[in-house]
Amino acid sequence: MRLNNVTPITGGRDIDILIEDGKIKSICQSGDSETSIPGEPTIEFHNAIAFPGLINSHDHLDFNLFPQLGNRIYKNYVEWGEDIHLQNKNIINSILKIPQELRIQWGIYKNLLNGVTTLVNHGPKLDVKDELITIRQESYSLHSVQLESKWKYKLNNPFIDKNCPVSIHIGEGTDEISEEEIDRLIKWNLLKINIICIHAVAMNEEQAEHFKAIVWCPDSNYFLLGQTAEIARLKNKTQILFGTDSTVSAGWNIWEHLRLARKTGMVSDTELVNMLTVLPADIWGIPNSGIVKPGYAADIAIAKRKSGTKAMDAFFALNPEDILMVMHNGKIRLFDEDLHAQIMGQGNSLEGFHKIYLGDAVKYVSGNLPGLLEEITKYKPIKSSIPGYIRW
Ligand SMILES: [Zn+2]
Repeated sequence: MRLNNVTPITGGRDIDILIEDGKIKSICQSGDSETSIPGEPTIEFHNAIAFPGLINSHDHLDFNLFPQLGNRIYKNYVEWGEDIHLQNKNIINSILKIPQELRIQWGIYKNLLNGVTTLVNHGPKLDVKDELITIRQESYSLHSVQLESKWKYKLNNPFIDKNCPVSIHIGEGTDEISEEEIDRLIKWNLLKINIICIHAVAMNEEQAEHFKAIVWCPDSNYFLLGQTAEIARLKNKTQILFGTDSTVSAGWNIWEHLRLARKTGMVSDTELVNMLTVLPADIWGIPNSGIVKPGYAADIAIAKRKSGTKAMDAFFALNPEDILMVMHNGKIRLFDEDLHAQIMGQGNSLEGFHKIYLGDAVKYVSGNLPGLLEEITKYKPIKSSIPGYIRW
């Protein structure tokens, strides 16, 4: 299959991407007829940008039906957790009544609709049936220093695969307790395991040197704590990846998270894109991923370019409704109605795809998302994260 006439967000001329056996076979400049293969199924785009399917380095798949829960700005995650369990108990219980399997499926769709093709799940290993996107559960997750019992023993378990990173929520707060817990983690990392820190809001540069990477989740941080990690300084000491976290603390739209991150001015546009593509592929050990390049997995997102915007500005202006196509391992997982005639005209069938509306946009999505949403509503959650502009 060929995806023709798309603009890479890194700039340059429009390109055609040839996909074969789930991988990117070749890339050439658009209109280079010498490389076209007669009879090859082709989708022509106009005014479209292409980028690697995003890698979301932090989420809790089964927590994505929760609405954002919080009643004020908190000093740390323990204070937040206690408060919402007290004040928002009814909402929490109404969501937990929905079977975990349905919650996991919605978590996958939340990511897919946003253009994410790889997600790193935090927490106990989940039984994921539909791999519409790649779900990474290979890293060893600890909840946090304060809420994971026996974390010191678990961290120093001699049977831990040293090549497999340990991820842990750490420094999720603005008080002294949050800063001190980072020192405790450093002190007790006796085997010098590669640790990937989630949040690190209270972390200073000296502490950052001890870790393999930080997963920056600004939307969640601002909501809970009113501030985020000092990425401008921390980025000089360790690698920075990007995560959404679940909807219990963050909005469902990753593009709003990215605009928030960009607005902080702490990172360049290229740095921010790398946090969602090449860097996580390297840090989490996902081979041949995170770049649109021959030999790499055909995990590609293509989106509408708003008129008058250049590639990077167009990228950061996106919302889920602007995404024209998401391809995962060479398979189309989602496409916009604009492409319907082209895709159908090449002898494809819509079997396995269902239609949903994102505002005025119509998307065809792999699997039965409308059925899932219907099923979820039967449990009558008091409030959920499914935005009103998703209709089915
Ligand atoms: Zn988390």
